[in-house]
Amino acid sequence: VSFSDCNLPQKLQDNLESLGYDIPTPIQMQVIPAALLGRNLLVLAQTGSGKTASYLIPIISKCYTVRRQRLLDQKRPLAIVLAPTRELCAQVEEQAKAFGKGLPFKTALIVGGNPMASQAYRVGKGIELIVATPGRLVDLLIKHEFELDEVRTLVIDEVDCMLEKGFLDQVMQIVRALSRPQIVMISATLPREVEKLSKSMAEDIVVITV
Ligand code: AMP
Repeated sequence: VSFSDCNLPQKLQDNLESLGYDIPTPIQMQVIPAALLGRNLLVLAQTGSGKTASYLIPIISKCYTVRRQRLLDQKRPLAIVLAPTRELCAQVEEQAKAFGKGLPFKTALIVGGNPMASQAYRVGKGIELIVATPGRLVDLLIKHEFELDEVRTLVIDEVDCMLEKGFLDQVMQIVRALSRPQIVMISATLPREVEKLSKSMAEDIVVITV
């Protein structure tokens, strides 16, 4: 399996090539096709496995399709990635920007420490992907700063770490604000709580390991 077998937009393939992504990692080989099919996934993967690209590539590809097909007046977010720390969110957003260069793919980073008003303003101007820590996204949701009704994919990265940090309630608040998106959960370990949560999110969730 190579990236060119995945029917990705040409520009995305070009970006991957120029970033030195020649061969998909084992996790990418499994996750990219399944995510493109819209499956709900629980992916057991560590940092270094290429997990980030495994969920970003399908998101960018799907955003491309949606934006080409539909002329929405307002470009509401189509995908959300939740991660437990500001640093991880910043890294994910950076990768997303590099992959999505030259495509209809704008991102917003929604984390603590930066002014809320400017983050909300950026989303309101029209973006495809929100990368956020759960706490800050909930703060903005409560203030009704923007609509998340177009979100089709929710990624919860490092979900085991999220649960350890006590972010479950905030994650569930976000899930309730969405209308049945595709769920992609990434976890380094598989404690019972992660298994329980994944089943409660989607009965048909597929577990992917390498
Ligand atoms: P991650 O596991 O997502 O933290 O990624 C680990 C590192 O591997 C990152 O620096 C990625 O840019 C890099 N990487 C991921 N997938 C590939 C690939 N298919 N080819 C080359 N580098 C990759």
